Amino acid sequence: MQQREELSAQRPERTAPSTLPNRRDWFNATILGGVGLALDGLLDLPAVKAASREFKLSNVSEFTTSCNFCSCGCGMIAAVRDGKLITLEGDYDHVVNRGSLCVKGMSMFPTHTSPQRLQVPRYRAPGSDRWVDITWEDAIERIAGKIRTIRDTTWIATERVGDKEVPVNRTDAFAFMGGAQNTNEECYLFQKAARLLGTVSVEHQARL
Ligand code: SF4
Repeated sequence: MQQREELSAQRPERTAPSTLPNRRDWFNATILGGVGLALDGLLDLPAVKAASREFKLSNVSEFTTSCNFCSCGCGMIAAVRDGKLITLEGDYDHVVNRGSLCVKGMSMFPTHTSPQRLQVPRYRAPGSDRWVDITWEDAIERIAGKIRTIRDTTWIATERVGDKEVPVNRTDAFAFMGGAQNTNEECYLFQKAARLLGTVSVEHQARL
């Protein structure tokens, strides 16, 4: 507030003031009108405020999430009513963005509601020119099967180091990639899964 007053004091005065009401005039008129109505007993401002706040927050659950657009990993608050996402906004408590979002982050909600958004996995068979919807179970089954096949066919059990054959038990055929959206807990599980599967290649999207 202090800064805004100092800035306006530095502005040059208008030499020919306009007779048209400016934005500040409208703002003042609105406040005075509201106060006048309240004084007349026509408007119970605290009740209106309380009712609007209650309406805005009624049956709303808030969840923390993060922006999925880039590697900054800005925090967001998702408001959900009746199982439906109704708003997404910057998370003021998040250490990365302190509530702010760039234009991409701000446009995340429309991408969520877009009719063009893919909501189920799709599969294009080898040689086919079209994608078909598949179930999540089918997608997971296919991915797991491919990982298993690749792992088994590329497994390196031992490696020669100097004059010794030493066990290494790994595959160099696939990699894991995480991103800034992943939480510490998710990253812990990724690392565990990657090491158990035998890959040493674990990357972060921000390094690519
Ligand atoms: S809000 Fe912008 S800067 Fe932050 S993660 Fe999303 S795209 Fe990146």
